[in-house]
Amino acid sequence: LHDVTEEEKIEAERREFVANVSHELRTPLTTMRSYLEALAEGAIQDKELAPRFLDVTQNETERMIRLVNDLLKLSKMDSKDYEINKTWVDFVTFFNDIIDRFEMIKESHIVFKRILPKEAIFIQIDEDKLTQVIDNIISNALKYSPEGGRVTFKVKVLDGQIEVSISDQGLGIPKENLERVFERFYRVDKARTRRLGGTGLGLAIAKEMIGAHGGDIWARSVEGKGTTILFTLPYDSEQEDDWS
Ligand code: ADP
Repeated sequence: LHDVTEEEKIEAERREFVANVSHELRTPLTTMRSYLEALAEGAIQDKELAPRFLDVTQNETERMIRLVNDLLKLSKMDSKDYEINKTWVDFVTFFNDIIDRFEMIKESHIVFKRILPKEAIFIQIDEDKLTQVIDNIISNALKYSPEGGRVTFKVKVLDGQIEVSISDQGLGIPKENLERVFERFYRVDKARTRRLGGTGLGLAIAKEMIGAHGGDIWARSVEGKGTTILFTLPYDSEQEDDWS
């Protein structure tokens, strides 16, 4: 009996996922269709409207590409032969490099603060996958940051693991939604996040990737004050003894 219920649950989740994907693809497609129709019906001659309408169709195309890329990532992760390619890296340098890249492109009114260990922390990670995870968390923090907001990056060494956190001073996430933001296609405010260009898959992908590293990911938030996304990665502080 237990197996049937479990099977039913998986089937229900699958249906919901397919419905979500279809909906997410239909939205940009119908938008593009109406703008292309308007262009075909004469707006193409209008020097003011034409570039604006083309801009919309271009943005919607970009959104669909992002969505399909995220879906491909998820389907790869769901397949049996999903593997991660770990190498030894100094996490502090790795993290600093990513933050530097965002420092270059962020808007000037947003302030970055780093609270990182002075010494190197050697751990085994899949650099490519963790870069995607951290990119997504920082992009969200920037998207939701208010004018003059501060984004704080922290790395703490704990027993057997490191804890990484990225905090913003944005509008926050209601308590009852905190766990759900890691579900596929879950968004606190659908209209708002769609406007901001999100696919609703970023944190679901992050959760899978952190899980594949043997870590955990979760969120803390106070509405109106800000959000912190935290994740852990296994770390053996004794490893240097092993090498000697
Ligand atoms: P999206 O592509 O929509 O950003 P994510 O999976 O990255 O998808 O995030 C899921 C949802 O979690 C977002 O739509 C948003 O509602 C909420 N969220 C994520 N990060 C933050 C943050 N830093 N501040 C407020 N809300 C956030």
